[in-house]
Amino acid sequence: MPEIVKICPEIREGDIPELYCNVFRRKVEERCGPFMSGRGVHPPVITLGVQAGIGAEGFRIEDGGEGEVRIIGNDLRGCFYGMGKFLRDARYEEGRFIPGKWRGTSVPEKKVRGIYLATHFHNYFHHAPVEKVKEYIEDLALWGANHLLVWFDRHHYRGINDPAAREMIVRLRELLKAGKNAGLNVGLAVLANEGYADSPEELRADGATGRAHYGVELCPSKPGAAALILREFEEEFDAFSEVHPDFLSLWPYDQGGCACPECKPWGCNGYLRIGEQVARLFKKRFSSGQVILSTWLFDCPYKTNDEWEGLSRAFAKPPDWVDYLLADSHDNFPKYPLVHGAPGGLPIINFPEISMWKMTPWGGFGANPLPVRFQGFWNEVKSVSAGGFPYLEGIFADINQVLYGAMYWSKDRPASDALREYISFEYSQDVVEDVLKAVAILERNHGYSWLHDRRTGKVRGLPKNRTATGEALSLLSDADRRLPDCVRRSWRWRILYLRALLDDELSRNQEVKTDRCEEALEELTRIYYAGKAEFLVQPPSRKNIESSGYEPKWFHRE
Ligand SMILES: [Zn+2]
Repeated sequence: MPEIVKICPEIREGDIPELYCNVFRRKVEERCGPFMSGRGVHPPVITLGVQAGIGAEGFRIEDGGEGEVRIIGNDLRGCFYGMGKFLRDARYEEGRFIPGKWRGTSVPEKKVRGIYLATHFHNYFHHAPVEKVKEYIEDLALWGANHLLVWFDRHHYRGINDPAAREMIVRLRELLKAGKNAGLNVGLAVLANEGYADSPEELRADGATGRAHYGVELCPSKPGAAALILREFEEEFDAFSEVHPDFLSLWPYDQGGCACPECKPWGCNGYLRIGEQVARLFKKRFSSGQVILSTWLFDCPYKTNDEWEGLSRAFAKPPDWVDYLLADSHDNFPKYPLVHGAPGGLPIINFPEISMWKMTPWGGFGANPLPVRFQGFWNEVKSVSAGGFPYLEGIFADINQVLYGAMYWSKDRPASDALREYISFEYSQDVVEDVLKAVAILERNHGYSWLHDRRTGKVRGLPKNRTATGEALSLLSDADRRLPDCVRRSWRWRILYLRALLDDELSRNQEVKTDRCEEALEELTRIYYAGKAEFLVQPPSRKNIESSGYEPKWFHRE
């Protein structure tokens, strides 16, 4: 056990995982330099322990004797979250770790505080060294996350034994294990009628659902297709059995669904028929496994309530195969469950889209902090939601992910307050006001679509007239000079700084990229490990444009 922390023997004899101490050490060393015996950083005596009675997953931080600080969790998770709070409250100097003054008790309000990592298109979570992604999961857990979700997206592969599929399974298992080690529940996202790239053509679904569709999904109403779907789920569950998934998240659309006469309306017909069988298979396979039934894009784009009303009828008697209902959309939360309550009286969780909105490529211009937007969305659902899973496509949305994590922890805590804590911890207590002002400007100026003009190489900005871009850049440049080197070089700072730089540079040059823009876009490419990424998740530098050959048909629009 590293010497920086000790375990509180009189409180609990059980084990605090060594991982906790390692994470604590890593976070301090990132800022203060290495621990060395006899020299270097001298933290106070920090005691970790577990004592029931605080409140599920909560923690208490208190003074012990003679410079000792005790971080006591209600359970192991609570202890980890308490460590996060203690780390965020501290001050960091070269060779010096100074604990903050916060003492007290904190207990999370929402039960599901999720992370969904999209692992595709060679984005960060798909392509960065797996150790970095594991650390990132731990970092988010320090903010209170307790569920981790990934998707093995079958349409990329020709069956589960495709070498590329095996490679992805190995990576996803690694990430899920990292989540488990940090104490999170881990789960698999699946489309209810998912198909591989080589699915039998005669069993394929009718793709005219009005939503995105890969064209390889299966129609469970065709003879033999349901059996194939279930067989492929058994294979997938086998492939992930060693991590023993805690939950399954079943999805209807985007992509997926079937518009044939026997299946439609998919959300309250074919989807439920095949979904129930998949859910029961999962619950049989993994004891105490839970099922989250997604209603994503229900009734879009038709502006009816057919699927929601159908689901309400189907769940008039509450289903025994669903534990949570997931609802959300690209923008505002769907009205139906807010007005009528969740079908089946199920607890409802959200799935806020924190990554793609008005930014193509996603994250292509750096960080996308949107605290005002997400505060508004959260206000609509915070009283009914049991938590949720923000859609995280890359580390560029880190601030948005953390803000949601903080709001799930404490539903009435303003996003702006959580943002202060983020800036203070990740950057420095000395730059909070300046960075807050800069983020407000970045949010007002949010919006790029390079996709429309990729042949001319001109960036299209939305809004057309960005304002105060120079002020945002100057605020961050000024902060940059005051930050310690380790923070100035950190990816969390660089992606924010480069976003301000790109906003200003593009705005002053009629949206034409300058050499300075090219440098910034190349640096973002390195930070995201996006050299081989597909264009939707790759910063649009000249070099990347020239080498990018991939453009999915379904994304063309003018
Ligand atoms: Zn069908």
